[in-house]
Amino acid sequence: MLVHEEQCVGCGACMPFCPKEAISVYGIAEIDPERCVNCGLCAAYCPNDAIEGD
Ligand code: SF4
Ligand code: SF4
Repeated sequence: MLVHEEQCVGCGACMPFCPKEAISVYGIAEIDPERCVNCGLCAAYCPNDAIEGD
């Protein structure tokens, strides 16, 4: 999954939806590719459409 840095506002809303705890937010969201299973939940819940499948 890819975070569009210019669209992410760092709200952290996506974090609790990740079943793998792959998202951390330090200013903007970062996704740990080692943990991410590409389920797409974070992308679905981001209010700013900042996350996209890659
Ligand atoms: S929900 Fe969207 S805008 Fe908010 S931290 Fe996550 S990726 Fe960024
Ligand atoms: S795609 Fe799924 S596993 Fe990967 S960061 Fe988003 S919610 Fe977590």
